[in-house]
Amino acid sequence: MDTKEIIDLEQNYILQTYARPDFVLERGDGVHLFDTDGKQYLDFVSGLSVNALGYNNPTIGDAISAQARKLIHVSNLYHTIPAPRLARMLCDRSFADRVFFCNSGTESWEAALKFARKWGYRNFEDRAKYKFVAMNNSFHGRTMGSVSTTGQPKYHKGFGPLLPGVSFAEFNDLESVERLVDAETVAVILEPLQAEGGIHSGEPSFIEGLRQLCDEMKMLLVFDEIQSGLCRTGALFCYEHYGVKPDIMTLAKPLAGGLPIGATLMSQDVADAVEPSDHAATFGAHPVSCAVGIEVFRQLSDPGFIAAVKAKGNHLNGRLNALRERFPDKITEVRGMGLIAGAVLADVPAADVMGAFRERGILVCAAGPDVVRFLPPLVVDQANVDHVMDEFNEILKG
Ligand SMILES: *Cc1c(COP(=O)(O)O)cnc(C)c1O
Repeated sequence: MDTKEIIDLEQNYILQTYARPDFVLERGDGVHLFDTDGKQYLDFVSGLSVNALGYNNPTIGDAISAQARKLIHVSNLYHTIPAPRLARMLCDRSFADRVFFCNSGTESWEAALKFARKWGYRNFEDRAKYKFVAMNNSFHGRTMGSVSTTGQPKYHKGFGPLLPGVSFAEFNDLESVERLVDAETVAVILEPLQAEGGIHSGEPSFIEGLRQLCDEMKMLLVFDEIQSGLCRTGALFCYEHYGVKPDIMTLAKPLAGGLPIGATLMSQDVADAVEPSDHAATFGAHPVSCAVGIEVFRQLSDPGFIAAVKAKGNHLNGRLNALRERFPDKITEVRGMGLIAGAVLADVPAADVMGAFRERGILVCAAGPDVVRFLPPLVVDQANVDHVMDEFNEILKG
């Protein structure tokens, strides 16, 4: 089948929920992807922050085939080997005491919402404690609970009525959270770094203030680290930048090397509120995903690897800031931490710059209409970063 036939098939049979450029990706190697016409792309999207270790990584391939030959699935009616081993690794390196495994980011967020409400029910049975304070401009996924807690009207339109008991504060505005909180609020829920919403980092005083407020008002602090977690920001978890620990945290994207997985991490206090049969997922704690997760997490949590991501992130940030200084009328702001970075464009849509990069054999994505987002695999090297920045310089020169 040639490229056009594949795209025609897609357009005739797949529900049209995505607008895609007109090439078909066939294989990947390292930080490069290749399409069906043999064209090579340097990948600064990494499957939306999933492919942290790049493509055709032998460790991932070996872990998949070894576990697939042993056992692919038996359901959660039985004990299996990989999930508890991965859970111990996650707890050893984080605030958490317990992990619930599922299959995607949105599913891990739904679990977080349920566990928070169950904690409120269990500990405050005599009075209602179930409300969530979420943030404007956030993104938590596409299932109903996630959509209902996502603070962007464009994701709500046509899907109401949404989950009741959710209100939205301004990110980085502690007073706006204080105004919405009352005795019925069970949790303040947010991404410590808003990714899809335009790459906004939480300010230390805001994140620290939320922790204090949650302690005072007996509320849980819930972090969505589906995109910011697992080394992307130059720390294993984004919350480490703040010295603030959440009570619940969600992880997903890169954890299983490109296979589906979600993980909801929690303190023992939260875990104590959840009982057998309160929540479940047929494919959750999947032996193959968790077996790969063990290998991926081993690499992502290595201190040398984390230090290298931080150094490469600083380099990327430095190059972007140099471009902002050189083209102040084209780039108004540079945002991000580590290897998630955004350039805010003054006068052209992000889609135009994405197209210009693509013509030059580079894949980048957007974070909102005017932000170009750079999300390379974490194994990218400095020469790759320099190449992308040199090409960005050419594009901006016009
Ligand atoms: C991608 C993402 C989600 C949703 O994850 P899915 O696996 O697509 O359901 C939720 N929150 C954040 C911060 C994300 O980046």
